[in-house]
Amino acid sequence: MSRSARSRTRLAAGAAAVCLAGGLLTVVGSPAAADHPPTAPPKDPVAIGSGGAVSSVDPNATQIGIDVLRSGGNATDAAVATAAALGVTEPYSAGIGGGGFFVHYDADSGEVETVDGRETAPMAMPSDAFIDPATGQPYAPFFPNLVTSGVSVGVPGTASTWETALDNWGSMSLRKALKPATKLADKGFVVDETFHQQTNDNAERFAAIESTADLYLPDGAAPPVGSVFRNPDLADTYELLGRHGPDAILEGPIAAEVVDAVQDPPTTGESDLPVPPGFMELSDLADYEVREPDPTRSDYRGLDIYGMAPPSSGGSTVGEALNILETTELSPTNLADALHRYLEASALAFADRGAFLGDSDFVDVPLDELLSDGFAAERACQIDPDAAAMKPLAVGEPDGDYETTCEEAAPGADRPDSEGLSTTHLTAVDRWGNVVAYTLTIEQTGGSGIVVPGRGFILNNELTDFSTVFNEADPNRIQPGKRPRSSMSPTIVLKDDEPWLALGSPGGSTIITTVLQMLVNRVDLEMSLPDALAAPRASQRNTVNVSAEQEFVDAYGSLLAPLGHTFASPAEIGAATAIEMLPEGRLLAAAEPVRRGGGDAGVVRPGRDD
Ligand code: GLU
Repeated sequence: MSRSARSRTRLAAGAAAVCLAGGLLTVVGSPAAADHPPTAPPKDPVAIGSGGAVSSVDPNATQIGIDVLRSGGNATDAAVATAAALGVTEPYSAGIGGGGFFVHYDADSGEVETVDGRETAPMAMPSDAFIDPATGQPYAPFFPNLVTSGVSVGVPGTASTWETALDNWGSMSLRKALKPATKLADKGFVVDETFHQQTNDNAERFAAIESTADLYLPDGAAPPVGSVFRNPDLADTYELLGRHGPDAILEGPIAAEVVDAVQDPPTTGESDLPVPPGFMELSDLADYEVREPDPTRSDYRGLDIYGMAPPSSGGSTVGEALNILETTELSPTNLADALHRYLEASALAFADRGAFLGDSDFVDVPLDELLSDGFAAERACQIDPDAAAMKPLAVGEPDGDYETTCEEAAPGADRPDSEGLSTTHLTAVDRWGNVVAYTLTIEQTGGSGIVVPGRGFILNNELTDFSTVFNEADPNRIQPGKRPRSSMSPTIVLKDDEPWLALGSPGGSTIITTVLQMLVNRVDLEMSLPDALAAPRASQRNTVNVSAEQEFVDAYGSLLAPLGHTFASPAEIGAATAIEMLPEGRLLAAAEPVRRGGGDAGVVRPGRDD
């Protein structure tokens, strides 16, 4: 009997229904699970207290992180346990089939270090991988035709990230850190509106893949809100991972199954989606290694901002924009000027991101110049305080030779970018003052749509973060063994050499502007941390129109339209989590209050005055 068949049998044999007054809660699972059906924990977007804190998008995951801290674990232990729980409850955003970036502040050494667990292109990936052989043009529509494919799957780095982070800074074994999430996967969690909606949004492509339909479309439909969703296959996979480390996935039977799923996606044969096969081989998995690059660092009004280095464009783009903004004062008493400059600085930094950012193991990224005050001054000079420049703007020249006289920003080429709501960010702080900012993803919501049969996790589609069409001058062109450019921006801010703030967000390339806007809100516009997260968002990524939530347009459109800004409105931008270190060891944990269903912040010892 196959692993998935066995699991399905377990589900069917133990099926039980428990009805609440409203008739909403249906528990499907083993007898043990039915005896004590899980309940939906409450969600709180703000928590204040001491002893450690965790903030994530999900209350089960935050609670697991808090429990780890409470039982003596440190920030890294809690972050890994929380991330593993998110792999259960937020499987369409993150999991062991994907990758991410882990930023850590060590209270003993005072150092900020990182783990780059980004997915990697297989060695056999050709430069025209995104061109449909049937048409000679890029797969169209790109989503879902290429996203739902083996071609888009990069070698996953999340399990290796967890092991490396625990080896470097953790106090517990991977096996122990995975225990609570293993239990969660086995017992199940109560399906909320977000999970239900995300499943429905992906139902067509999930239905095209047998293993995915079996897991996420039981009885052919998304699990209803209020029902309990279990993933015993993932619990088994976590147990193997705990016993054998990442080799459980990168070598041995699961590696072979991953390669099979990529090279020969388990399609149902009942869909028009092409689901093209990918190029991953066993050697790609066996050769996977995390990297541990130095973080990016920029100073902003006396604060040290640490972010993620290439292949993420997060640290450099947030840093460049902050350096540009630092050349003038921003004040809550002149919001039109502050927001205008925020938008213009973002556009300039995005022009440079597009031209210079890629995997620095493969292309020359002028990181020091992009983050230099000289370059920022030259770019800042190009902001007209009274008028928005015509977008898209031309690329700057981070060459060490900077103009002291101001030139008008020149027009440039349009580079469309993604603004998905996939990915997840978590933040953790422990009682010793260690800090983690960790953003992890499987790229699109639902990743490649391919569940590894019998293993309970979805493979990423991260390789679609490479440029679609090959161009020798493009730093983000496809190359074998390369990591696609990311926008993920896990950020840790120090004040007077002590950690002050940790933050991050999902949202494709809007991650960068979301992190930037939250920093401007908190540092310059004097908002509290919860307000800085909740405030309406706008994202200028060097495009003709500013992407802005309707609330932003309603609140500030009349201030910004006279300067020439025009708006296009996506429903939501980002879904952040953050922790601020208050005086005397107290902590303020904040999560997104509304977007994407809202997140959950927790502290070990709640209380305003302890
Ligand atoms: N793949 C994206 C990145 O690494 C994140 C996915 C998203 O948030 O939409 O930048």
